[in-house]
Amino acid sequence: MSAYDYDLFVIGGGSGGVRAARVASSLGKRVAIAEEYRYGGTCVIRGCVPKKLFVYASQFAEHFEDAEGFGWTVGESKFDWSALIAAKDKEIDRLEGLYRKGLENAGADILSTRAELTGPHSVRLTDSGREVTAERIIVAVGGTPNPHEALPGHELCISSNEAFDLEALPQSILIAGGGYIAVEFANIFTGLGVDTTLIYRGAEILSRFDIDMRRGLHEAMEAKGIRILCHDVIEKVEKTAGGMLSARTKNSGTLSVGQIMLALGRDPATHGLGLEAAGVEVDARGAIKVDEYSRTNVPSIFALGDVTDRVQLTPVAIHEAMCFIETEYKNNPTKPDHHLIATAVFSQPEIGTVGLSEDDAAKRFEEIEVYRAQFRPMKATLSGRQEKTIMKLIVNAADRKVVGAHILGHDAGEMAQLLGITLKAGCTKDDFDRTMAVHPTASEELVTMYAPSYRIRNGERV
Ligand code: NDP
Repeated sequence: MSAYDYDLFVIGGGSGGVRAARVASSLGKRVAIAEEYRYGGTCVIRGCVPKKLFVYASQFAEHFEDAEGFGWTVGESKFDWSALIAAKDKEIDRLEGLYRKGLENAGADILSTRAELTGPHSVRLTDSGREVTAERIIVAVGGTPNPHEALPGHELCISSNEAFDLEALPQSILIAGGGYIAVEFANIFTGLGVDTTLIYRGAEILSRFDIDMRRGLHEAMEAKGIRILCHDVIEKVEKTAGGMLSARTKNSGTLSVGQIMLALGRDPATHGLGLEAAGVEVDARGAIKVDEYSRTNVPSIFALGDVTDRVQLTPVAIHEAMCFIETEYKNNPTKPDHHLIATAVFSQPEIGTVGLSEDDAAKRFEEIEVYRAQFRPMKATLSGRQEKTIMKLIVNAADRKVVGAHILGHDAGEMAQLLGITLKAGCTKDDFDRTMAVHPTASEELVTMYAPSYRIRNGERV
């Protein structure tokens, strides 16, 4: 009989923590999991899932307009924010229930409390003060929106957390940031009829993506009426008469808006977690340092998901949890594989991407071939909507391997998932070429771009 209360104690009931707890428990381990807020974590409660529901909601106005080109007459339409929130809440409750049920069925002890480390094998449950011991501990507490405390008036701004539960839709919103969250919410709000401005410090939104995706999306967003202010930041926020907010910007004067949302990255939620007491090391950003097996410098304590700030994505946290299980409970040491992660930005249109951008590939390889197609999606021919799809394949000329695939267009996220398999399998451009097209689809373009649009040799376009 173990000297500990549990074999495994998991702090944090998000995607990674729940997966580790559920699977360990189903393997017969004595497991407890503690969550201070709601089971499901950021992804389910106030992230990916409700965001995607909001994306769907925000697309209907365009669908109604597009319908006319196909012979439909759509009557007067109106949108009810509170009805959307109620429907979203119901779905989130259902999903949270499923997460709890999965843990329950596996036999884990589900604790609704904050838990803090007190030593290499112990945690304190803050609701009761009870101390619990475990042979292994996983910290999977995720992250929180960067509050940007250096900004005067930052406390008047909302983050994505609040955006999911606003009492009413504002008439206008200013969103700071040029990453996933800023871009996705700018599209959501504008689709729901909110006058939307995005302010970003850099030259072009989505700094880590391929340049064609960035420019193409920028244009598409402006065409929808979103104002995008690049090379600019908010310097001060103040409340003004009538419940409005005024934002003084560096280069674009003072803007008066109903809400200001900060989407400036997410910080690891390690504050006050007892890491010092347990001797767990963190990096300069407060992220828990881990080795290739998600083990911290304290051998009995592991960390996974956003709190480690490796790659802040739900499937990555789940994968890291499964690797922990293989390594620690199945005698099969398995390192998480963070190479070639396909990802999507649920903007409108979407971006789906896997592998290297053109710029990164050009730096890494002596010569690359760039295959690029830009076209009007078929649906737009009758709807009359001015939009374009862009597809790009980046190929290493030396071995013909496709090292990057990027799509801006409808369902780009769905396509990215499948492209992810091809890149992971090491497919060459010739494999793409000998694949029969599915017609008529947008994605057939991926297998019919026979000649490179251009090459880049030693950093020079030829
Ligand atoms: P991102 O890291 O994507 O973007 C942060 C943005 O804020 C960047 O544009 C960055 O600029 C800017 N920024 C950071 N600090 C400052 C500052 N002090 N002043 C001005 N601008 C600043 O973070 P998000 O908050 O959008 O999202 C957090 C994470 O959540 C993402 O990294 C992603 O992994 C995940 N996520 C994934 C989604 C998906 O898979 N679809 C959806 C939503 C979130 P710069 O580029 O110049 O550094």
